[in-house]
Amino acid sequence: MVFTAGLLCLAALLWILIRTRKPSAPARKPAIEPELSHVEDIFESEAARDLFASAPIGYMEIDREGIVRRVNRLECKLRGREESDMLGLHCAELIPEIERERYREQIQRKLEGHRALATYEREYPLEDGRTIAVQVHEQLLRNRARRTSGLRMASIDITERKKVEDAAYQNATELRALFQAVPDLFLRIDKSENVLDAKGGQRQDAFLGAEKFLGRNLQDLLPADILAEVRDAQERVRNSNAMEMVEFAIEDRLGEQAYEMRLLPLSWDEWIAVVRNITARKAGEQRLKDNAQELEQKNEELEKALTAAREATRMKSRFLANMSHEIRTPMNGVLGMTDFLLGAGLNAEQQEYAEAIKRSADSLLALIDDILDLSRIEAGKLRLDHVDFSLPAVIAETTSLFAAQARAKGVEFVSSVGAGFPEAAVGDAGRLRQVLTNLLGNAIKFTERGQVGLRSEMVSQTSDEIQLMFTVYDTGLGIPLAEQTRLFDTFTQVDESNTRKYGGTGLGLAISKQLVELLRGEIGLESEPGKGSKFWFTATFGKSTRPLAAPPAATIPPATKPATKPATKVDVRVRPTLAPRATVAKSQTGTAQPAEAPATLTSAQKSMRILLAEDNEINQRITLRLLQKLGLAADAVVNGREAVEALEKRKYDLVLMDCQMPDMDGFEATAVIRNREGGGRHQTICALTANAMDGDRERCLAAGMDDYISKPVGLEKLRNALDRWIPGIGAVAAES
Ligand code: ADP
Repeated sequence: MVFTAGLLCLAALLWILIRTRKPSAPARKPAIEPELSHVEDIFESEAARDLFASAPIGYMEIDREGIVRRVNRLECKLRGREESDMLGLHCAELIPEIERERYREQIQRKLEGHRALATYEREYPLEDGRTIAVQVHEQLLRNRARRTSGLRMASIDITERKKVEDAAYQNATELRALFQAVPDLFLRIDKSENVLDAKGGQRQDAFLGAEKFLGRNLQDLLPADILAEVRDAQERVRNSNAMEMVEFAIEDRLGEQAYEMRLLPLSWDEWIAVVRNITARKAGEQRLKDNAQELEQKNEELEKALTAAREATRMKSRFLANMSHEIRTPMNGVLGMTDFLLGAGLNAEQQEYAEAIKRSADSLLALIDDILDLSRIEAGKLRLDHVDFSLPAVIAETTSLFAAQARAKGVEFVSSVGAGFPEAAVGDAGRLRQVLTNLLGNAIKFTERGQVGLRSEMVSQTSDEIQLMFTVYDTGLGIPLAEQTRLFDTFTQVDESNTRKYGGTGLGLAISKQLVELLRGEIGLESEPGKGSKFWFTATFGKSTRPLAAPPAATIPPATKPATKPATKVDVRVRPTLAPRATVAKSQTGTAQPAEAPATLTSAQKSMRILLAEDNEINQRITLRLLQKLGLAADAVVNGREAVEALEKRKYDLVLMDCQMPDMDGFEATAVIRNREGGGRHQTICALTANAMDGDRERCLAAGMDDYISKPVGLEKLRNALDRWIPGIGAVAAES
């Protein structure tokens, strides 16, 4: 095209030039004029020669022998050569050697008229690395006699065009590869639903072949219902000018295949459809849906199982509460009676047996408490106290017991307190004491010689909180590294033989860990077998603002005789002073009179009378006896109704009320008593019950009772409890 247009322009120009040429004007002879004299040529005139020289087409003329006679500027540029380099050479010399011979022959044949002239493309590599592409048109030159005098080659630079063509080719190739790579079928469709173009698709898919669609109408390709959907979607595309999607299924020999057709606007009367087989994706989605359903079902089942488990936990708690009650009632009897037995002037052998009973009973009670604690913690029912307490007092009380045990074993006991250790804190002193007791108990249990110690320090403090650290160390057995991490699990003990030698349940550390966590601290240990162990824990308490009374002396009381008690993990309270002994009258079921009231009792105390409502005969006898020991007179009844009646008959300073009793229980009796009160009268009622589960105290107080004592109750516990209601009784000594 370009070439033809170029030629036409040139022809017109030349025609004008020839017409305007002055025949008289002498032609300027070019340098190579003599050589070309025999060539009849349209470039003969000077103007024409100028045109030849500066034409936008490369020209090269050769004579009959193939020798280059004339080249123009552009030809030189295209070939990257000087004119003088080319003139006089055979034209075949200008091309690469390998083609030369054939070219020479071809040119010769053309010049002789044996071979048709041709248009061909050729590339010239330039020295600067570029390659110039040219299209060459050949034309024979004739002299005046119309004989062939040479050949003119006109070269058009097609480098740019080639580049564009190459890029287009490249694009087309890439596009073809792309269509082959993607499984989608691309359709170009006109408004009459004729498929104008179809590319891509999948050969193995019976529906998605491009050739199947090309040149056909959608009406012949899609079932009517699907076509209707496609038309609807197409309508939407037209309105919104945005992509729309249609999903449909087509039955083929492989079964039902799912497809997705995306419709896109192309021009006002054409649109593009991209069709894809989505059977696998749909199957995946279905699987996911099925899985989700299955999961939902599983969740429901889990939910049910969880509900059942919660119910089971509730049952377990209730069972534990009942068991604890049932066990504590006879335990009260065992412990109380053993205490009396031990004080009854036994011979040495009997004394030994009775002491063994006492030890076993103490251990059993400790075990029950451990299990109860654990189940309480696990059920999330353990609530911590939040009261002001003296830290040195807690430490002194706890260590005094263990110091005695240590000395009895010949082990040194040391308790030290770091500088700046606070005097008081706000929190649960009982639980702190319990952890200390567990760790100290273990330290003494597993140490045969050397030292056991407690170090108490303050780690940090904020404006309202303190963090404390306690370290219990010993020079005992030690614990192998492999065992150390699992020690805090429930029922874990280092090995069987230890268990046999030292006893224990493997619950102490598990409880301690849980308690420490409740106290917002951490627990850990360092230990080396044969060298000893160091158990440490931290705990967070509130800062005390209330000034506390001076704590009891932190000195450790000397152990006077070998400890007969095992290192139980019950809450231990040590009273620093005991008054002299007092004799106690013989007890009788039903009532008890203090035979000889301790001298320390005031006359007001001596005239006091207690009512005990307790259905268990043994426990009734024990409590009455304990009251006697404290110098207090008491009457006993066996149920709530009798208690109410007794109160009608006479005045009692205090009622000790069992909760579970036949006929009328303690709660009901309390309600009746409270109902009858009036005019500022208030009967002090203290629950005395084997219900030791969390919430039992609250239940008693809510029922109108004033206080709560859990069984088993020993002298110490009773005295402490009564001290709250009969001031001074705590200082009263009793017969041991
Ligand atoms: P228990 O002492 O009732 O067996 P614990 O949970 O308190 O249960 O302790 C678990 C085990 O950890 C013990 O049986 C003992 O093997 C080991 N252990 C605990 N403290 C020490 C210690 N200070 N020295 C050596 N071993 C210890």
